[in-house]
Parts: sequence; structure tokens; C-alpha cells
Amino acid sequence: MRAIYFESHGGPEVLKIGERSDPSPGAGEVRVRIRAAALNQLDVFVRNGMENVRVPLPQIPGGDGAGEIESIGPGVEGVAPGDRVLVQPGVYCGVCEFCRAGEQSLCVKFKILGEHLPGTLAEMAVVPARNVFRIPDTLGFEAAAAFPLAYQTAWRMVLSRGEAGPGRTVLIHGIGGGVAWAAFEIARLSGARVFVTSSDEGKLATARRAGAEQAWNSRTEDVAGRIAEATGRRGCDLVIDTVGEATWMISLRSAARGGRIVTCGATSGPNPKEEIRLIFWKQLSILGSTMANDREFRALLDAVFSGRLEPKIDSVFSFDDAASAFARLESGRQHGKIVLTP
Ligand SMILES: [Zn+2]
Repeated sequence: MRAIYFESHGGPEVLKIGERSDPSPGAGEVRVRIRAAALNQLDVFVRNGMENVRVPLPQIPGGDGAGEIESIGPGVEGVAPGDRVLVQPGVYCGVCEFCRAGEQSLCVKFKILGEHLPGTLAEMAVVPARNVFRIPDTLGFEAAAAFPLAYQTAWRMVLSRGEAGPGRTVLIHGIGGGVAWAAFEIARLSGARVFVTSSDEGKLATARRAGAEQAWNSRTEDVAGRIAEATGRRGCDLVIDTVGEATWMISLRSAARGGRIVTCGATSGPNPKEEIRLIFWKQLSILGSTMANDREFRALLDAVFSGRLEPKIDSVFSFDDAASAFARLESGRQHGKIVLTP
């Protein structure tokens, strides 16, 4: 099969496209003929290499994918060759205490496709049968591939960890990012009042049109001050922070008394300045979040399949143009998901 892969960590120049041996489905696994895959910030981190994370090399990146079941391994029931499916990129053991409690993304052996296991930027991918979900005929492969990783991450952050809902106020930093935009759409769906920031005026305008109550330029505005004005000096019930160092103090200052700050990543760096007095005096809850559990993922699928959520696609590239797709993601100019097709 043809695949995008890298044999050493580094910039876009380490990406190769070429022949890799076809993976075979083992017991409980299926082989998916990938028709579309999508990029996430994670793919850049994995390609660059991360401190304290060992990635098997060579590696095929990509967590998100959709296509048809091509063959099934022994013991697989419920799906058959030809089924149109999307892939859930979070792989779990199913037997540890967290899996048994229904918290699959806390699994002690939790793995993500394209990071710990071969990913979806290939003509074929082998995954556990419980990681494929049939998609409606009306949903195209590009749309189906675009949302699972970012939108499940945002779903858990906004609804389960963040408890957003009608009347609640939510601040989301860096609205151009994949998870941030997904969090915006999900927070709007919950009935919350949503404030967003970006350094890009075009993205701010898009967010206003899509229902953001206010959208501020993070380069020129005092965001915590604007939040104070917009909420009668109360602050926000929930801050979604995927940015890290550049926004953390703004998050602490913008949160209401008893508010929540939820983090799933740190694109600007992982070691922000901290102000512990703000945390205890305002009795803030600072919550981490990674991917989603099975119940949350199924709820997300229901929201997308029923049309209540419509994942945003920025652009579609062919596998041969993978370098351009990664370059667009790394430029930060995209708004929505970047999709690749074989
Ligand atoms: Zn487990």
C-alpha cells in the first residue's frame, strides 16, 4: 500500500510517501480502506518528536480516517467488508479499572492512532473492530474523517469536564485551532454564551457570524479586561485553554469565582507562569482532559449524524501533496480541518 510515513523526527522534510507492506487484521481487528484522513496538531507534535514520548519508527501519522471495511480478522462480529465507517483514533484495553468504569480515555494502556500505533495516512489501516463506527450514506468520507479526534476532545472538555450549558459563559482562546473551533460549536450547541479570541481578524469575523457573543483580537485587546466588562465583572464559568503559556494567566484572570479551566494541550508551550493565589481565592477548578470515553464519542456521533453539529473543513489535499497539507496546518492560517485523500 501507499502511505505517508517518517523514519526520523523533524520538520516537514522528514515526511515521505511510498510503499509500505499491507497490514493484516489480527483477532478482533478490521482492515479499513482509507478514503479520507484528517490532520491534527498531534500529527505535528509526533512528527517533530516530543520529550518523554517514544514514537515507534518508522511511523505512519494520522489519527482520523474514514473508508470502507476491506477485510476482517477472526472473531469480528457486527461489521462486514464493504461497510462505510469512520475510525475512532483512541485505542483502549477494555479490561483495566478505567475501561471497566467506562472511562476509556483514562485506560492505563491508552494509545492513539498515528502516535503509538500506525495511523490513517495510508491506503489501509488496521484497527480494533470496536474502533470503527458505521456512517450514514449521506455523510461523505471527507466529512466523516474530519471530526473524530478534535471534536471528541472538545466534547469531553466542554460538556463533561466543563459542564457548559444554557446561560453559562465560556471563553475559548485561539479560535482557529481544530479543538478550539470544535469547542466553540459544541458550547454553542449547549446553549452557552461564548466569547472567543484569535490573532486573526478573519477568524474572529467567522466566529461572530457563527454566533460568538464577542470575539477579540488577542494581540491588541486586554482579553481578561474585556471579559470583566462583558460579564459585569463576574468572569466566565468555563475557560477552554488549548494554548498554554501564552494564555494561562488570562485564563486564571478571566475565570469566575468557582469557575473551571479545562486544558487538553499547550500549543504555545507547557510551562506557563502560574498564580496560585488566584486559584485558591477564586476556588478555581483546573481540569485536564484527553480524547473522550465511549459514551461521549457515541453522543458526538449522534450530534453529527443528526446534523446538529457540522464539522468545519478548511481544505482537502491529496496524499501526494501531504507536505503542503502539513505546511498549511503549521502556518496556523487554516480555519477548520485539513483533510487528505489517497
Ligand atoms: Zn484499559
